[in-house]
Amino acid sequence: MSKIVVLGGGESGVGAALLAQSKGFDVFLSDQGQLKDAYQNTLAEHFIRFESGQHSLDEILSASEIIISPGIPEKNDIVKAIKAKGISLISEIEFAARYTDAKIIAITGSNGKTTTTLLTYHLLKEAGFHVGLGGNIGKSFAKQVLENTYDYFVLEVSSFQLDRCFYFTPDVAVLLNITPDHLDRYEYKFENYIFSKFRMFQNATEKTTCIYWADDEVIKQHLGRIPATQQKTISFSRPDASARINEQSIEFPDGILEISSAPIQGPHNAINMSAAILAAEAVGISLRDIKNYIGTFQNAPHRLEPCGHWNGISFVNDSKATNVDAVYYALNSFKQPIILIMGGVDKGNEYEVLDALIKEKVKALICLGKDNHKLESHFGPICPRIFSTDVLDEAIRKGMEWGVSGDVVLLSPACASFDLFKNYEDRGDQFKEAVKRVCHGN
Ligand code: ADP
Repeated sequence: MSKIVVLGGGESGVGAALLAQSKGFDVFLSDQGQLKDAYQNTLAEHFIRFESGQHSLDEILSASEIIISPGIPEKNDIVKAIKAKGISLISEIEFAARYTDAKIIAITGSNGKTTTTLLTYHLLKEAGFHVGLGGNIGKSFAKQVLENTYDYFVLEVSSFQLDRCFYFTPDVAVLLNITPDHLDRYEYKFENYIFSKFRMFQNATEKTTCIYWADDEVIKQHLGRIPATQQKTISFSRPDASARINEQSIEFPDGILEISSAPIQGPHNAINMSAAILAAEAVGISLRDIKNYIGTFQNAPHRLEPCGHWNGISFVNDSKATNVDAVYYALNSFKQPIILIMGGVDKGNEYEVLDALIKEKVKALICLGKDNHKLESHFGPICPRIFSTDVLDEAIRKGMEWGVSGDVVLLSPACASFDLFKNYEDRGDQFKEAVKRVCHGN
């Protein structure tokens, strides 16, 4: 019996282990950290061997194939040992895709993946398709392949997952944008990250629909990497684009979507909506129907999420903006003056791209993090007012003090959250609670 080792016992790892076992492999799961009780129980119930708190090298290196969690970096010793031995190392996406005949819509990009994935899923579901949602979001793709017989999957795919995809061939492949992110995982070489994102198209055939944002500077420079398949482009300016975004509407070959009545706003969401609509059309849903379905879409929290008012000041939680590009689009989504709360763990950010927008739109910057030096020294000369703190309530109080009616206090951090919070969700949740508590005393 050939042996599969799964490295990492989170949602995707445990799902992959279950699927592998059901396919008759001898399965062993290894996690250097502590496995959650629920996952331990699931593995035990299915008689899947596992270890927690260590990696047993001999056991791991005796595998014929290894499925690795996207959270484990290439520079990890165990990965080096596996590569040295030449054992096939793949992602859960690559593995699970082998065992489903469902059509797959896969979505990647530096920003907008979750929004676009959820919207595409919503459109297919509303259209009555038997569809699963997975990848970087919600339930494990592998587990759903095991337990369901969906006709379609909509998958959010990260660069880390793509790094370990070799034969994965989505029917509809979407690339939203490429801006510097996660460079710590790519030897600080942007090129490496770009190649990783383009793996989305590596196996595209003439049957694949490739959808991408044609105004993205990086995508533009690498168009040769997108195979000569059915290409659908999204653009603010190109007249021949399959989705042409104007101020008020998005023009598709078969009709127009008014933006003002759309459930998600801002120029970035016009791109996301275009991508989701083109993907839905690619599997046969008409624009007329899409227009009926789109109104009931609700985005996930922490993405430009309005979360309260005080004396005419609006508070907005954009905690998911963990890189500079997301903040760029967040700032562009408001016409009102902005008091911006930024900061956290810097991932090698280059803030210059924000300079012009900060000058134009941001009346005050509140740096919220354990180490705010880089933000202070970069924006000090640009921003009229700067305040620095590592206490969330103080940040909000400062927003109330400096804000006047009509302003927006926007949490859009450009950084990871781990210095003060568990993760971006925790940061967003705490922000929303603190707004209620500090502004309204509840
Ligand atoms: P991802 O899953 O790629 O992180 P999300 O949909 O969760 O993307 O959005 C993450 C952050 O990026 C949010 O702050 C959101 O406002 C911003 N954002 C969403 N779509 C885009 C886009 N197309 N371009 C730039 N920023 C975006």
